[in-house]
Amino acid sequence: MPFHCSVFNCKGNYDTSPKVSIFKFPEDEKLKEQWIHRLLKDFKPSKSSRACELHFREEDVIKNMEYFHEESGCFLIIYFYVFF
Ligand SMILES: [Zn+2]
Repeated sequence: MPFHCSVFNCKGNYDTSPKVSIFKFPEDEKLKEQWIHRLLKDFKPSKSSRACELHFREEDVIKNMEYFHEESGCFLIIYFYVFF
C-alpha cells in the first residue's frame, strides 16, 4: 500500500493525485519539532506519519537516492535531509 501524506487536507500521493515523494518524520526530536512547526501546529506524528514534498521547498531537500517502488506505487528516498 502506498504511503500517503499525513498532513491535514493534503492529497499527496493519494490515488487521484500526482505521485510525490513521501518523507518519514525524522528520528531527531529537534528536527522533528521543526517539521511539525512547519507543517501544522499541534500535529502529532505517529510512527507511521509521513509528509510529502509539497510542504518543503525543493532547494531544502537533499535527496541522495530515489527510486520508484512499483509494489507500493511510490517514490522511496533512501537518504535525505531537510533544511529550514
Ligand atoms: Zn502533503
